[in-house]
Amino acid sequence: MIIVLKPQATEQDAKALLNEIEQCGLKPLYMPGVERIVLGALGDERVLQQCHFEANPLVEEVKPILTKYKRVSRDVQPHDSVVHIGNVPVGGQHFVVMAGPCSVESESQLLSVADRVKTHGARVLRGGAFKPRTSPYDFQGMGVEGLKLLKQASELTGMPTVSEVMEISQVDAVCEYIDCLQIGARNMQNYGLLKAVGETGKPVLLKRGLSATIEECLLAAEYIVDAGNPNVILCERGIRTYETATRNTLDLNAVALMKQRSHLPVLVDPSHGTGVRELVTPLSRAAAAVGADGIIVESHLNPSEALSDGHQALTGDMFAQLMQELTPFVQAAGRKL
Ligand code: PEP
Ligand code: MN
Repeated sequence: MIIVLKPQATEQDAKALLNEIEQCGLKPLYMPGVERIVLGALGDERVLQQCHFEANPLVEEVKPILTKYKRVSRDVQPHDSVVHIGNVPVGGQHFVVMAGPCSVESESQLLSVADRVKTHGARVLRGGAFKPRTSPYDFQGMGVEGLKLLKQASELTGMPTVSEVMEISQVDAVCEYIDCLQIGARNMQNYGLLKAVGETGKPVLLKRGLSATIEECLLAAEYIVDAGNPNVILCERGIRTYETATRNTLDLNAVALMKQRSHLPVLVDPSHGTGVRELVTPLSRAAAAVGADGIIVESHLNPSEALSDGHQALTGDMFAQLMQELTPFVQAAGRKL
């Protein structure tokens, strides 16, 4: 529940109440606002009903949080969260473009594409070192060597990095070399992994599962935040529908709804969302228009030789064109690139 304190309540009063909340066996949340302090009490509904915080003279109002997810809900925090990946803020005034190859394949492949996307305005470098491939016979990624190359590319370009962690055993290595941990669509409900990345405190890019509802996605984010890590960025990357003309169906409803329901930043991945390179630019424009906080796109300077997802990779020229065509849409949405 949310406990709104009266304007005259001091920080000291709030601390006393937070203690009381903890004593009831509930998780206390402290949310100082501009005009008044708001507290949260999270836990078992039956316990909540027995605690009569409304009887306290310093309490103005007690409201239940009606959603299953609590900490990521806008009810608990009305203003947008800003998550910093290195020195890049995600979720503020800027519309952030993250770009890079699907997989890290070699030093020259990564450095050349990193340099190119940086030149055209990408702020964060993406690249998979541990790859979740549908077939066990497909390229599985370079592993730690790939992470080291990402670190090298980051030092050369100044761009912070995002890369996927597939297993708990990989968390330490990814944390050592990478600025933002990606939880892939296939792992969105791997609760052990969510808790493990929650304990790191590093920014997490959480991709929506292929068949996950919006509520399930927000509850997955709740696991990470509940484990102590508020630095979560949501990502809509397309879902499974009956449509087969595109790889997935990019659910822009989800973007608008998640922005309404949650204070977390929301990104769009039009590369996996469509699986068709010619559709990446139009859907990136749509992402800006619908209110997303940025996009994450795949780019490869020689897509026909890519070891994964070449069909959806933007060439260097196409990436430059994307940035040009995106600009007026970002401006119309009241954001800056
Ligand atoms: C990726 O980003 O390369 C990837 C595998 O994404 P997803 O988990 O959304 O399929
Ligand atoms: Mn990919």
